[in-house]
Amino acid sequence: SQPRIELGILNEQELKSVAKKFSYCLSDGDVVILSGEIGSGKTTFVRGLVTGLGCSEHIVTSPTFTLMNVYSCLKTIYHIDAYRLNNLEEIFYVLEGEIEEKDGIFIIEWGELVKEFFLEDFVTIFFEHIDESHRKLSITADQTRVELIRRCMNVG
Ligand code: ATP
Ligand code: MG
Repeated sequence: SQPRIELGILNEQELKSVAKKFSYCLSDGDVVILSGEIGSGKTTFVRGLVTGLGCSEHIVTSPTFTLMNVYSCLKTIYHIDAYRLNNLEEIFYVLEGEIEEKDGIFIIEWGELVKEFFLEDFVTIFFEHIDESHRKLSITADQTRVELIRRCMNVG
């Protein structure tokens, strides 16, 4: 099984701080899958993440009705919600160029549904609902990537 980084049980503010810290570990071409039930904090995580890249969290909206949101922060973020996409092939056809050019970072809620579109390794963040105000987070990726993230985030 893949190595896993446990980020612990976090309140909303802590979750956003962790996301901000995680943003410093990202480079263009990275694919991050956010996996967890409805309301588990995936979009909230993206809010924290963009603040680490010099944007305001208020630019982040749930890509429910838009196919995809693009945030032009210090790096370009493509924010996708795969759960609500009717035509997965279509959006990945549109994105093919960006994916190939590694032009930006792809953050995909419910991304476990679209893994097959990405040949390269990706990072998965799992969100677990603990109670009204707490979520449990963990990260998996291949061994090399997990080691890099551990060092970058300075966590166990
Ligand atoms: P969906 O699958 O519908 O897109 P989501 O995983 O993106 O859901 P969010 O839109 O981030 O979920 O909603 C999380 C909700 O839970 C928000 O209303 C947020 O305020 C609340 N919340 C409470 N505690 C936390 C926490 N510790 N971390 C994140 N969100 C929290
Ligand atoms: Mg969401």
